[in-house]
Amino acid sequence: MDKMIDPALKSWLPVETGSDFPIQNLPFGIFKVGVRSPHAATRIGDTVIDLFTLAEHGFLDGLGINPGVFNYPYLNPFIELGKPIWRSQRKQLFLLFGSENTEARERISDTNDVLYNISLVQMLMPVKVGDYTDFYSSIEHATNVGMMFRDPANALLPNWKHLPVGYHGRSSSIVVSETAIHRPKGQIKPSDSDTPVFGPTNELDFELEMAFITGKKTALGTSVSTVDAEDHIFGMLLFNDLSARDIQRWEYIPLGPFLAKNFGSVVSPWIVTLDALEPFRVPGPVQDPTVLPYLQYTGNHNFDIHLDVLIQAEGQPEYRICQSNYKYMYWNLAQQLAHQTVNGCNIGVGDMYASGTISGPNPDSFGSMLEIAWKGTKPLKMPDGSERSFIHDNDTVIMRGYCEKPGLRLGFGEATTKILPAVL
Ligand code: MN
Repeated sequence: MDKMIDPALKSWLPVETGSDFPIQNLPFGIFKVGVRSPHAATRIGDTVIDLFTLAEHGFLDGLGINPGVFNYPYLNPFIELGKPIWRSQRKQLFLLFGSENTEARERISDTNDVLYNISLVQMLMPVKVGDYTDFYSSIEHATNVGMMFRDPANALLPNWKHLPVGYHGRSSSIVVSETAIHRPKGQIKPSDSDTPVFGPTNELDFELEMAFITGKKTALGTSVSTVDAEDHIFGMLLFNDLSARDIQRWEYIPLGPFLAKNFGSVVSPWIVTLDALEPFRVPGPVQDPTVLPYLQYTGNHNFDIHLDVLIQAEGQPEYRICQSNYKYMYWNLAQQLAHQTVNGCNIGVGDMYASGTISGPNPDSFGSMLEIAWKGTKPLKMPDGSERSFIHDNDTVIMRGYCEKPGLRLGFGEATTKILPAVL
């Protein structure tokens, strides 16, 4: 077994039971303290580790990395170094912070400005997002939407099982967790009218998604195979694709989602590498009919990642409204990347590829309010007695994700956003 995923190994830094960040995780993010400039970081337990300062003091010598790659407000310069460097960096961090390394413990503990408690720092957007794609790869979600809006007997469109459906979204409005978003305004066509009105959305929704980030660019005219796809993938994070359903319904024909989905999408601050997720690989669903050769794959490219969505109404406790899992994905990330590039489309470092809403088979695993309240026909009862068909002003939407097996739990932290009233 890869030593770095051995559950028996501990860090000399404290890690509370149930933490998402044991030494087996070692995610990457960008943080800032006070007015100091942002640096790259990793995290163990509640301790944020400044990689720039760590490198400046020589603790990462021998990896051939210029410490300057950690001195940017985004991870792209580090990510661009490629998978062998991501791996040697991970290994070096594992050695430095492993419980056996008492020498490193003393030297690092004696060095200023390396270790910070998470409560003292501000987490920033981890990457400068180049291009952004949103897929539609959960069969349960696509089936639910098809049943609601089209024909329950033919819920999936004819292309759905032959290709990972997706669209190109907007990267400028992807923001980090804890960024508040104002309720968007737009054109809405009431069902009893032939013409639209303008106003705040009445159907603000979340979409429970995960996204992967590419770390190796390709040239225009080339394609990435399912075999090579994971060499291009740096890691994953949680992704809340906020959506205004009434705006979407009026605008999306014939070219797809536009202003209903680009007013704010929220990601978790820590990127978890595929190496950390290795122990949690699982087979994907059987794909029937057989897919075209360029979408065929070997090995396991799905991951067993528990996903929770909670809503916290103003002044109320958090209330869990959905428990899903990334393993339900019909199309996996290798297939998504192979499809994205099969026509010769080039990809870049820091691109973000969202999964599409991840719904499971049961109503308590549906990944959007649209499905949970079934188009408003089954409003959700909140503990305070209020009802939700969609998200209300001053609701906070919280997404969490983690992997668990005996002795080992690691996770993604949170993607959290508060919805503020529309700017009028
Ligand atoms: Mn989406």
